[in-house]
Amino acid sequence: MIYLQVAVPKTLFNLYTYKSDFPVPTGCRVNISFGRTSIIGVVMGTSESPPLDCPLEKLKPISGVIDEKPYWNDQTLELIKFIARYQHAGIGAIIDLAQPVALRKGAPATPRPVTAYRLADLSFTPANKQQQDLITALRNQPLTPQEIRGLNLSQSALTTLLRKGAAERIDLSTAERDIYADLTFTGKLTLNPEQQKALEAIRGSLDQFQVFLLEGVTGSGKTEVYMQAIEEVLRRRKQALVMIPEIGLTPQNIARFHHRFNVPMAAMHSALTDRERLDSYLGCRDGRIGILIGTRSSVFTPFTDLGIIIVDEEHDPSYKQQDTCRYNARDLAVYKGKLAGCPVILGSATPSLESLQNAASGRYRHLHLSSRACVNAGAVETEIIDLKGLELNSGICAHLLEEMKEELSKGNQVLVFLNRRGYASQVICSSCGHVLQCCNCDSYLTFHKYNGTLNCHHCEAVTPMPQTCPACGAQTLVIQGNGTEQVEEYLQQALPGYPTIRFDRDTMNSPGKLRDALEGVLNNHYRILIGTQILAKGHHFPNVTLIALLNIDGALFSNDFRATERLAQLYTQVAGRTGREEKSGRVVLQTYAPANIVLQTIVTDGYGIFAENCMAERRYLDLPPFSHQILLRIEGTDRERVHSSSHEIYQRLQKARESFPDVEISPPYQALMEKKQGKYHMLIMIQALNRTSLRKVLPAIDSFLEDRKNSGGTSCYIDVDPTEILQ
Ligand code: ADP
Ligand code: ZN
Repeated sequence: MIYLQVAVPKTLFNLYTYKSDFPVPTGCRVNISFGRTSIIGVVMGTSESPPLDCPLEKLKPISGVIDEKPYWNDQTLELIKFIARYQHAGIGAIIDLAQPVALRKGAPATPRPVTAYRLADLSFTPANKQQQDLITALRNQPLTPQEIRGLNLSQSALTTLLRKGAAERIDLSTAERDIYADLTFTGKLTLNPEQQKALEAIRGSLDQFQVFLLEGVTGSGKTEVYMQAIEEVLRRRKQALVMIPEIGLTPQNIARFHHRFNVPMAAMHSALTDRERLDSYLGCRDGRIGILIGTRSSVFTPFTDLGIIIVDEEHDPSYKQQDTCRYNARDLAVYKGKLAGCPVILGSATPSLESLQNAASGRYRHLHLSSRACVNAGAVETEIIDLKGLELNSGICAHLLEEMKEELSKGNQVLVFLNRRGYASQVICSSCGHVLQCCNCDSYLTFHKYNGTLNCHHCEAVTPMPQTCPACGAQTLVIQGNGTEQVEEYLQQALPGYPTIRFDRDTMNSPGKLRDALEGVLNNHYRILIGTQILAKGHHFPNVTLIALLNIDGALFSNDFRATERLAQLYTQVAGRTGREEKSGRVVLQTYAPANIVLQTIVTDGYGIFAENCMAERRYLDLPPFSHQILLRIEGTDRERVHSSSHEIYQRLQKARESFPDVEISPPYQALMEKKQGKYHMLIMIQALNRTSLRKVLPAIDSFLEDRKNSGGTSCYIDVDPTEILQ
């Protein structure tokens, strides 16, 4: 009898033992019955001796085996175990995150057939030039129909070769194919001295683990450095993983990489179908893909022989998963690089303070690109408008409107940034003062005019806009606060004749829409761009000469110590969207706090000086990156129980702390939005200068978590290295 330790999705800490008459390798999926349901687990270990802590007659046999051979390689298993340890989570909680949905549902871990053509009769004499060209191309390796089209080879020549038996059809997914045969690199640029220096440094560590922080302003040529480093990696017949923060950026990046490299590439992000994601996953695992470009979850993709990992815009908050197991894909990428023994490049114009500190302490090597790569890049200047005493229309002052008008009349584009979607952020009764609130959350409802609804941006609840006040019945509801929808409406009417395009979650709900919109911006059809975060990331808008930030004051007065860092990153990133190519750009900030010292530093001295000041402050206050944090989130539908559980957890931690006095534990505090999605949320912050002692207090609450796991009452989630500390 063989005993299997099986990771079961959604369970807390344990692996569960099942028996089997025959060996099943580690890393294979098995069907098991768990409680009253039958589910899919993954074998994480096997042994021939029975477990000591469980009576043999209670052990259940597995009900079936899905994989004959492990579909995870050792590095992937190691990575999964690492996160489980690091996040103090169960492997069961992670296996669901770490594999494509199709595999979770039990799909076979085998690739779909891929049609390709290869040469069958080497002695065939071509009848014309087209046939000759096709034969030359096929002599190197089999080609798919898309590749044949891409190389401008003749379709009719192919038909003829097939008919005459000179070529044959094969299934590429199972065929031997050398993806590195015949590499070509199209459109390489000559690097400037700084780029050259960065590339040399990376090239010097291609066969070992080393993390580089590549800091360079937007447009300084980081991507060119990535691509030339990847070229070296491909020459060594190894694969590359390129991580980007936003799905919307994949088409752009893929197009750019496709243009440069002729290896098979794949994408990995949430807008793909289950099957497409599985194909990318298996293609990398089986060595049929040379470059994978993907968002956060691509860090879990197994590779045959990974040679480099790039994390672009490494500071971006979207690398941190914000529910279930709250891993940080950037940090995991570093560990993945360590397992693979390959370099990891973290690139950003505005590096996170964590990465800057790792560079300062010598753990990462710091590389700089200090100027824009294209010689004739324009300059950027900033204007701060003091809003005090000014009248605003949909959040825009008259002066800003004039400036926009002027740029538009010159044929340029303008971009308006506002991080709030919808039409109006509050609906108030002017008779009784009642503000319309979500019934699931402690939040105000946002009015969306295009469909006449009230929306909660925290639980996605949608209801029709009422005619009368639900509290007093008067027909006196008024709206307050503006969102992107209202700004667009106002600008359409104040600046007629200039087509607008809005980038937010309501309008850009598919990659196709985003692609079309970006195309419309690049060909100058749209003249006014209005949008949220989406606009701050990575896109190139050569014709935008004016960027307006409407409302940034919230970040200046937030209780979250990371708020100013995020504002500095946002401002610098947004400002980087302008002043590209030969046009010079202008950034206009509207604020009620023009003299704010942080704002002044960001605008006048730049991100580097801001980061230095911010770092000094964090050091003085013992905040991350100079200390380490773990945030416990206690949540449940019964407010009393959430509070009492929080206090019990706090007591246990306090007790454990007696042995580790350097650990600080905050008494439980309410989340900024205590009620969210129908649940109440309390937080406990655990902090220490030393990561090791920090982790040592956690086992004190394990038994508590285990006891409650099926109670249906409160649950407690552990967030190691939290990035949101008020929610
Ligand atoms: P980043 O990734 O830092 O934003 P990119 O690599 O996208 O910068 O480069 C910005 C622009 O400068 C691109 O249009 C790119 O083609 C150009 N560029 C990059 N490196 C060079 C170079 N060495 N010589 C000329 N142009 C360059
Ligand atoms: Zn809600």
